Amino acid sequence: MAEQNVVLNNLTFELHIQNSEIELRITQLAKLLAKGHSNANPLFISVLNGSFIFAADLLRQLDFACEIEFVKVSSYAGTQSTREVKQVLGLSKSIENRTVIILEDIIDSGLTMDFLLCDLARFKPKQIEICTLLLKPEALKVKLPVNYIGFEVANDFLVGYGLDYDGHGRNLPHIYKAV
Ligand code: 5GP
Ligand code: MG
Repeated sequence: MAEQNVVLNNLTFELHIQNSEIELRITQLAKLLAKGHSNANPLFISVLNGSFIFAADLLRQLDFACEIEFVKVSSYAGTQSTREVKQVLGLSKSIENRTVIILEDIIDSGLTMDFLLCDLARFKPKQIEICTLLLKPEALKVKLPVNYIGFEVANDFLVGYGLDYDGHGRNLPHIYKAV
């Protein structure tokens, strides 16, 4: 049985999506991905840190040729100003002419994904698709072509299954929301 409530750094979270539901949904996503891409040898790009568990579970459900890379999107204050600049770190493979599928844990404002799409497009992939476990439709600030969505969720703060609160909670098998 899943814990109904967990406490992380003094904040209480309640059970929101059980691991069995996540597993089921990932199996469905894997089938959809197979339909679209089983002959394309797609390159999955998993956005660290949050998507590592989703990526690991999804990839093991795929029964066609594919590859995976892991990137980080880091922010830093530009040297000339306090303007926030983002950069993609860790891409070690050429994506030119490849079918690229970005794997995210959660899309909130969509700004991170929007940046990633623009940045990766510079390297001339054949196509880029987006696969996210969670999407907060009401929080979206930009229009994004999200091809695969595990669950649409409300504007709550979620933890577990890779998602953290101040570094904690990534190891929880289920997804919890802040109460
Ligand atoms: P966005 O750029 O779409 O606003 O946010 C993307 C990133 O913010 C996600 O990849 C994730 O790291 C973080 N994030 C957004 N919503 C949540 C949430 O509910 N819980 C956690 N733990 N992280 C979130
Ligand atoms: Mg993320």
